[in-house]
Amino acid sequence: MPVPPRPTIFALSSGRPPAAIAVVRMSGPRAGSALEKLTGRVPKPRQATLVRVRDPAAGDVIDEALALWFPAPHSETGEDVAELQLHGGHAVVAAVLDALGTIEGCRLAEPGEFTRRAFENGRLDLTAVEGLADLIAAETPAQRRQAFRQLKGLIGDRAEAWRRQLIEALALVEARIDFSDEADVPEDLIRPALHAAQQLRDEIAAVLADGRRGERLRDGLVVAIAGPPNAGKSTLLNRLARREAAIVSPYAGTTRDVIEVHLDLDGYQVTLLDTAGIRESDNPVEQEGVRRARERSAAADLVLWVIDASAAGGAANGCAEGLLNSEIWLVKNKIDLMDQRPRINAEKRRRDEYKFISSISATTGEGTEFLVTALAAYAKDYFAATESAVITRARHRRALEDTVAALSRALAIDRSGREELIAEELRSAATTLGRLTGRVDVEDILDVIFRDFCIGK
Ligand code: GDP
Repeated sequence: MPVPPRPTIFALSSGRPPAAIAVVRMSGPRAGSALEKLTGRVPKPRQATLVRVRDPAAGDVIDEALALWFPAPHSETGEDVAELQLHGGHAVVAAVLDALGTIEGCRLAEPGEFTRRAFENGRLDLTAVEGLADLIAAETPAQRRQAFRQLKGLIGDRAEAWRRQLIEALALVEARIDFSDEADVPEDLIRPALHAAQQLRDEIAAVLADGRRGERLRDGLVVAIAGPPNAGKSTLLNRLARREAAIVSPYAGTTRDVIEVHLDLDGYQVTLLDTAGIRESDNPVEQEGVRRARERSAAADLVLWVIDASAAGGAANGCAEGLLNSEIWLVKNKIDLMDQRPRINAEKRRRDEYKFISSISATTGEGTEFLVTALAAYAKDYFAATESAVITRARHRRALEDTVAALSRALAIDRSGREELIAEELRSAATTLGRLTGRVDVEDILDVIFRDFCIGK
């Protein structure tokens, strides 16, 4: 039975209508004929062409549009791709999608299906797919730059190069095992193979030793606002959120105990957490909230410990346990209520338990400028040098750690007579790298053997 052709997929690829322009894309074997059915023609490849879009059944004109035609394999998905740039009204988009849906072999694309096809056709590796997702989700310029570099192969190309080197090393070992009787296969192929493995291990280990900067940049800096009840934490959060012109996405936290606000501070993403819910309680539901709030702020990079400086004994002690892994700054709030104002400017502390102390009024805003400047400087330091980071996800880190582990095991094996074991570890290292980019292919190994040694003579 003949294999049915792949369905041709189509979707609205631009944002939700109404908009000035709507982009409808099609990908698959019927993309060209679908375009022809709707517009009466298939334009020259890669040339924007003005067309009339008609309903193929009724024949009436839906819109005038720009059509683009990207024949396989030189397209984003690697398949035939057609694109229509329409006027972005609801009815226009609906009519075009409806019309495409009536064409045999065409169906609406599932989420991510264009990218998935690009991956399956080798146009993007897995890390690039992830980079693309990050680029679309990027909220700050630094995140955008990192995502773009990843999309363009920052880690994918490197992993692929490492994998190729590994396969060459593996080919040497396999040749030694399989063809040791052949006169033109040199005796000691293991030594150069292990030498290459060692170099690779060192190189990958160096990339791993990056202090997780890439992952941190991706996730943003987390600052928790904590302190005793009524110290003014929520008021401070609101003030910081309002002050920043570029609040990226303020929303109430998923639990009622943690409110989260995302700020763009000098181009770096900072997530502020209000942990007003951190208080002891007998209510089991509240206890769960408290537990979550604690967990969230324990993982914070920086804690602003807010106290009511005007209250009697508004001492700086009593810092919630569990926050001690983070750097803690003391924020003395409500200075507007004090007869004698403390100095507003903050001081860098050396020996104190607080690295930084500031005096503010969350209601009047006094002193908060200074705090924000300090936060921005902290964010800048925190993210310093992140731009050079290669690893942006835990998945990448795990894969590279597994690779290093396998290489270390290969290097630890006593070489004489244990070629099989060495080959096994090298193979496992190569597979792990292949999984990182989504390109696992054992045929490669044989290809290299036949290319480098004239064994099949
Ligand atoms: P939280 O429990 O720590 O989140 O505290 P809130 O932000 O809810 O504040 C508790 C009370 O203190 C509210 O009535 C606020 O209006 C008040 N408050 C907060 N900050 C200041 C301040 O700087 N000056 C004055 N006078 N009142 C403040």
